[in-house]
Amino acid sequence: MENVVILGSTGSIGIQGLSVIEEQKNFAPFALVGGSNVDLLIEQAKKALPKWAIIYDDTKLDILKAGLNGLAVKVASGETAIHEVIANEESHIILGAISGFAGLKFIMTAIQAKKKIALANKETLVAGGDYILDLIRKNKILLTPVDSEHSAIFQCLQGQQNALNKILLTASGGPFRDCSDEFLKAVTPEMALQHPNWSMGNKITIDSATLANKGLEVIEAHYLFNCSYDKIDVVIHRESIVHSMIELTDTSVLGQMGYPSMKGPILYGLSYPERLPVPWPSLDLAKIGSLHFSKPKSSFRVLPLAFEAGKEGAMAPIIYNGANEVAVDLFLKKKISFLGIANLIEDALENVERIKIDSYESIIYADECTREYALNKVGE
Ligand code: NAD
Ligand code: MG
Repeated sequence: MENVVILGSTGSIGIQGLSVIEEQKNFAPFALVGGSNVDLLIEQAKKALPKWAIIYDDTKLDILKAGLNGLAVKVASGETAIHEVIANEESHIILGAISGFAGLKFIMTAIQAKKKIALANKETLVAGGDYILDLIRKNKILLTPVDSEHSAIFQCLQGQQNALNKILLTASGGPFRDCSDEFLKAVTPEMALQHPNWSMGNKITIDSATLANKGLEVIEAHYLFNCSYDKIDVVIHRESIVHSMIELTDTSVLGQMGYPSMKGPILYGLSYPERLPVPWPSLDLAKIGSLHFSKPKSSFRVLPLAFEAGKEGAMAPIIYNGANEVAVDLFLKKKISFLGIANLIEDALENVERIKIDSYESIIYADECTREYALNKVGE
């Protein structure tokens, strides 16, 4: 039995992760960690009965205590409690499903405590970059990707590590893939929050609409699979059935397919290298009928900016990520336009002063400088 800590259990990945754990007898929910949605955390803990239920927001602790009163579930709040439960000797696997840069500090603790990590939180890899990957290697940590594209690539690479020629990263293209540049000028948060294929948290849904999500995934793929940027191609695939592909040295292409659900990638991330039976339906390709592939449109500037930031390396991916997080937040608050997201990222990449990235503290500082620059730029 493997004890799982779900970081971000009340989010989109966290909810699906808990459902996967409940379907499998090999895993037990050891700790559920939520950000601020205390009502959902109480509901989840009542049903799953983890050893720990932890809420990040200290002001919600009393509600959590009252909600779980009389049950054999320990409760706590705040950052320290989260670090402690990750490092707890009874916890075996950390499912990293917090959204954004906020997840990095907890993944650092998981690495230091030498836990197996199933990682959905791509911003952690983009900002942590080589520094985090070196730590993972030095500590001999098993890190499995949960992002569906990277899970697909990881699955295809089994036994093929030395024959990789190219990564073909698929992208749904988001809700505006067929829209004119003129249309994009008037996109509102409400419009951008409607994704055609996937139901996800707000930040990643906006990222999918701008293609920043694909940009982050390009950098994530570079770090995870040690693949140079000129060997990563993005392919628009509107049905989101082929989760990604790899091309091998002899031009054979291997892909991994499934319905657009994160439960498969989450399960493989937890069970790797084992494959486990599941209660969900098989893929019915005949019913789907046809699959389409095309090139991304050049008007989605956030994607090429990721290649530029990735190629520069060091602090540039931190700037890309930090400026994007600030921009998405401002867009959701209607303080900048949809196209303003790309402008802000580009501006930050051009103007934020570079520092040397050689420690955890330097990553945090680089992120802070970026956020300060981006907020100043729009007068916040
Ligand atoms: P979400 O916004 O739905 O959920 C985020 C979770 O993290 C929530 O439980 C929230 O309470 C918690 N959280 C936020 N800040 C926290 C903090 N400081 N401390 C503790 N908990 C905190 O996001 P999501 O869509 O589930 O995405 C999570 C991560 O997975 C993101 O990095 C995203 O890019 C990645 N991802 C998501 C999907 C998807 O289908 N949703 C797919 C691939 C990758
Ligand atoms: Mg993805």
